[in-house]
Amino acid sequence: MNDIVDPVVRLTDVTRSFEQGGVKIDVLRGVNLEVRPGEIVALLGPSGSGKSTMLQAIGLLEGGFGGKIEIAGIDASKLGKDQRAAVRRDHIGFVYQFHHLLPDFNAIENVVLPQLITGKPRTECDARATELLTALGLGARLEHRPSKLSGGEQQRVAVARALANRPHMVLADEPTGNLDEATADKVFAQFLALVRGEGSAALVATHNERLAAAMDRVVRLHDGVLT
Ligand code: ADP
Ligand code: MG
Repeated sequence: MNDIVDPVVRLTDVTRSFEQGGVKIDVLRGVNLEVRPGEIVALLGPSGSGKSTMLQAIGLLEGGFGGKIEIAGIDASKLGKDQRAAVRRDHIGFVYQFHHLLPDFNAIENVVLPQLITGKPRTECDARATELLTALGLGARLEHRPSKLSGGEQQRVAVARALANRPHMVLADEPTGNLDEATADKVFAQFLALVRGEGSAALVATHNERLAAAMDRVVRLHDGVLT
């Protein structure tokens, strides 16, 4: 990991509105948040409360946000699209509800691909992918394509991919929301253990209070603000 800036993420008065059928809805109405290095924070809120919108803001996936978003001390609101992509690549890893793995590549290749852009030698990328997949119990599945893996295994590959470039901040959007309860509990425990072991911070959107209780801190999105 590169030098860590504290806080790794800071949101100051972040706002986001959408037009729906000619009506403007204010989804984020002034969100303030600081996440410290290594801190694992649960983002709770009912469906439609803006959790995904907030993670997209922090992930610098799109513009259109008011307020200030700082990632590792860099004020993203002042950056163009390419610079935002570079900050994302250097500092952020994503896990979504659906794995979004590339179907024609096997597990190890899916974890190697995001590393290649860093210019690291292929052997090092392979070693890193093997290390992460093995830590997640997939040592015997390295060469399986996604279609040959169970839902829980696919999601574990997605976790390994998110951590491949040693991000300071992992953004996880209902990462086990697509799994049955027993599998979800197991995958989530492995996810937490790995993120802690790596020393990454994480912001995890969920509406599962039990999963939230296993994290360091809980924030709740309600009426467009965090409580
Ligand atoms: P959550 O993840 O908490 O379920 P979302 O962030 O997905 O909530 O959505 C919050 C609100 O923003 C919802 O009312 C949703 O319809 C609206 N919304 C999200 N993305 C868009 C978009 N691209 N265009 C219009 N409305 C959107
Ligand atoms: Mg969502």
